[in-house]
Amino acid sequence: MDLNLTPKQKMLQKKCRDFAQREITRYVSQLEMDPEFRSGLYQKMSQEGLFTLLISPELEGNPLGYYLGLAEISQADAGIGVGMAVTNMVAEMIQLHGTPEQQTKYLKLLRAGTAPAAFALTEKQAGSDVRNVQTKAVQDFNNPDVYVIDGEKQLISNADSAGFLVLIAKTEDESTAFLIDRNTPGVEVTKKEQKIGLLTANLVNLRFRNCKIPESQILGKPGKGLSIALGALDSGRIGIAAQSIGIAQAAYEAALHYAKTHEAFGEPIGKFQAIAFKLADMHVKLSAMRQLLLQACWAKAQKKEYTLEASTAKLFCSEACNEIASEALQIHGGYGYIKGYPVEKYWRDARATTIYEGTSEIQRIVISRHLLT
Ligand SMILES: Cc1cc2nc3c(=O)[nH]c(=O)nc-3n(C[C@H](O)[C@H](O)[C@H](O)COP(=O)(O)OP(=O)(O)OC[C@H]3O[C@@H](n4cnc5c(N)ncnc54)[C@H](O)[C@@H]3O)c2cc1C
Repeated sequence: MDLNLTPKQKMLQKKCRDFAQREITRYVSQLEMDPEFRSGLYQKMSQEGLFTLLISPELEGNPLGYYLGLAEISQADAGIGVGMAVTNMVAEMIQLHGTPEQQTKYLKLLRAGTAPAAFALTEKQAGSDVRNVQTKAVQDFNNPDVYVIDGEKQLISNADSAGFLVLIAKTEDESTAFLIDRNTPGVEVTKKEQKIGLLTANLVNLRFRNCKIPESQILGKPGKGLSIALGALDSGRIGIAAQSIGIAQAAYEAALHYAKTHEAFGEPIGKFQAIAFKLADMHVKLSAMRQLLLQACWAKAQKKEYTLEASTAKLFCSEACNEIASEALQIHGGYGYIKGYPVEKYWRDARATTIYEGTSEIQRIVISRHLLT
């Protein structure tokens, strides 16, 4: 396992860092408040190739360049990182499982400067329990080339603004993945959730009512939806590890700056061992997070199963991210609790990382099953 970044990996990391500094960092509050402004940013991300970076030949067989780039975007704003992560996950699903026609149509859309993509798996009783999907896709009695979809999906990122989505629905006894254009009749946004963080990513509920989808929109083979979804989640979990590194790095940098510049008892608070040790612990955790990201990318690049490494990185990085964001807030004292200082946002954004793409409890189940079989 080579720990040195290649010139291409450094280049992709820098490309995303430069993009984030130019297009995101200064505009976060506008991006949070104005969906039009956000849509303009998404167009630029698409045109820069950031929506399909995970399937880019520039990665040279190791996805690390993409995940480092995702960390840079998430350091600037984790909600925009969600849009990038989900869209790349969908792009990878299409590259792995799509027909040539699906690849031509949908990957072109993701490169053409339009909208991000969404991934609709979660339902009221099917969050952790992904096998319990109840949304049904039934072959039309009069036209077996068409599936009729009925059901509801909950907590789906950016499904209101997405151009298309991958839906996991139940066909007979098994799940099947469908590619669905967002403007298809019968697809409706029923609720926009009010979240505590990630304010630049919308989270919505969807209803499918008598939604007719041609068989040609099935992604992969019928009945293989769950295994396609679980494969995508392995990849997505490395994405959450990367996102956690981005948020944690931002929180650490804010805390380090505050520790050097804010004074109490006549000296910078960084001179107090209690504060200095918190910074040391943050540095150690961030170093360990990066190593687990490298390990997971290395395992994925071997083209073998990498579920264990992905869950390990996701679990550790998301938990450490929350610890770092919380300690960064503590170092800011009362001002950490005040809007206007960036740490309260990092703390709110961090909170989702131990929940989505499988909670920490589910990661422990995945990891322990690997150890015990
Ligand atoms: C910001 C955000 C964005 C999201 N984006 C998407 C998206 O784009 N697409 C999508 O499909 N979903 C998305 N989700 C949904 C997310 O993946 C689910 O919320 C998550 O998987 C947990 O499912 P749940 O909310 O139904 O909780 P539940 O599964 O009901 O779990 C509730 C609690 O019980 C615990 N628990 C459940 N089962 C077990 C068990 N067997 N053993 C031990 N503990 C258990 C859980 O860990 C959790 O603490 C998003 C969620 C959030 C917060």
